[in-house]
Amino acid sequence: MSSLDFLKRARIALGRWTSRRFARRPFRLRPGRPIVSFTFDDFPRSAWTAGGPILARHGFAATYYTSFGLAGRDGASGPHFTHADLRAVLAAGHEVGCHTHAHCPAGETSPETFEASVARNEEHLGASFPRARFRSLSYPISPPRVGTKRRMGRRFICCRGGGQIHNRGVIDLNCLRGFFLEQTGGDIRPLAAAIAASAAEGGWLILATHDVSPRPSRFGVTPAFLEHAVNLATASGAEILPVAKAWDRIAARTAG
Ligand SMILES: [Zn+2]
Repeated sequence: MSSLDFLKRARIALGRWTSRRFARRPFRLRPGRPIVSFTFDDFPRSAWTAGGPILARHGFAATYYTSFGLAGRDGASGPHFTHADLRAVLAAGHEVGCHTHAHCPAGETSPETFEASVARNEEHLGASFPRARFRSLSYPISPPRVGTKRRMGRRFICCRGGGQIHNRGVIDLNCLRGFFLEQTGGDIRPLAAAIAASAAEGGWLILATHDVSPRPSRFGVTPAFLEHAVNLATASGAEILPVAKAWDRIAARTAG
């Protein structure tokens, strides 16, 4: 490993550590019926055109983390959503979430710039879909800075990062853990293990991916893999809810 590689890795590890440790908004998740949420980041058109029908067949809704700056453009995970796609996503009962306007890498962007991009994304949503609201956020690319977590904690009911694990015990609403389906490399076993672990602990597993395609990018999965995930989640006894609705359910459970 070159010293530059080493420095880069050390910086990423330190970023992940500080991001988990500081500016937390702790919440004790009372164990109950497990919850699984499906989320799509960015989002590529195929998350809707191929992912949407799979969820619809099972009667489930997902959260689409939207960056308006990507709308209508091509990206590494294929063509991104259009306004017509987003209209259809909302009409089908899915949730939208915020992913910043410019798809800002959370760890490399100053908290001020990150928040300005969030505000810009909200303005675009408000202008095109006045009845829609971003209630949750997912951090693009890298773990968020401490100042960014703090700012986002004031704007959203909850925010999601990565970590490849379910949320259990004392969770951090400013950076919930997410499990990226594509990081399994198409192997169903780590996914099955995460779903089983979350179910055993009455946890909240937030699944994430990007494109859904028979030949997915390295950021996406096949329709068969997504279908498998839906089947495993259902068989585990989990309730399948988009992120903001899941939070509503958890908050109601705690109040009751
Ligand atoms: Zn993204």
